[in-house]
Amino acid sequence: MNVATDLAGNHALVTGAGSGIGVAIARRLAAAGARVTLAGRREAPLRAVAAGLPAGSANIVAGFDVTDEAAIERGLAAARAAFGPVLILVNNAGAAETAPFAKTTLEQWQRVIAVDLTSVFLVTRAVLADVKAAPAGRIVNIASTAGLKGYRYVAAYSAAKHGVIGLTRSLALELAKTGVTVNAVCPGYTDTPLVADAVAAIMKKTGRSEAEALAELTAGNPQGRLIRPDEVADAVLWLASPAAQSITGQAIAIAGGEVMPG
Ligand code: NAD
Repeated sequence: MNVATDLAGNHALVTGAGSGIGVAIARRLAAAGARVTLAGRREAPLRAVAAGLPAGSANIVAGFDVTDEAAIERGLAAARAAFGPVLILVNNAGAAETAPFAKTTLEQWQRVIAVDLTSVFLVTRAVLADVKAAPAGRIVNIASTAGLKGYRYVAAYSAAKHGVIGLTRSLALELAKTGVTVNAVCPGYTDTPLVADAVAAIMKKTGRSEAEALAELTAGNPQGRLIRPDEVADAVLWLASPAAQSITGQAIAIAGGEVMPG
């Protein structure tokens, strides 16, 4: 990437950093010189990710459940003790569940809202003083194209991701004079364990082959393919960089030209 992306010494915290898009983001930020806190629930995957990053660039914080306010506070204390205040926050953790609307239980609805939306509220609020104190703090929320348009059988997930974009736009205005930018990145179907689970669920429910199930997911992308996690990470790196100082309150689709309403 050619934009100015020297993040030397900046402390970036990535949630859900043990797999998929979170790993790609952590790698990109560390390669740009950031000191990266890999936050997640399970220690083993975080250790494996850290082992692949430049020496001294990563610190892991396990037990970081983004739905648990106390766990977030504990994790942030450990992150600050290692690398100082957080200057770049990437709210990446999330989970997708599918169900026809009529079969979506209240429990499922609340679980999805908690992990995909309330999590962003909780972690961002806990980190806010840090990023505001920075000369050019950054908050990047990994939303989804499901935050910009609807898809069948994911009403709760889509509602949560639309909520993330609303939060992003409002907070961006609230912080506009502080130097902090707040943006959302909205990937289409991306080649991660989350999509592998979706393919498996389609195969189980419909009896289709893996190729047929995958084709259903890639059909909406005019480029006819899954997005690569690195492509999402490149957008995050740009938004985190000094080059993107005037970009705030945006929801940027990384989706191969899939048309979004509005
Ligand atoms: P993934 O399942 O590989 O990664 C999600 C990560 O979040 C995992 O490490 C998981 O352990 C973590 N996580 C889930 N619940 C958590 C909790 N309560 N506390 C802490 N961590 C938790 O999937 P991914 O595709 O890399 O997803 C990353 C983000 O990208 C998610 O927000 C997802 O909604 C979003 N997204 C993914 C796609 C896609 O097609 N893969 C598309 C659009 C948006």
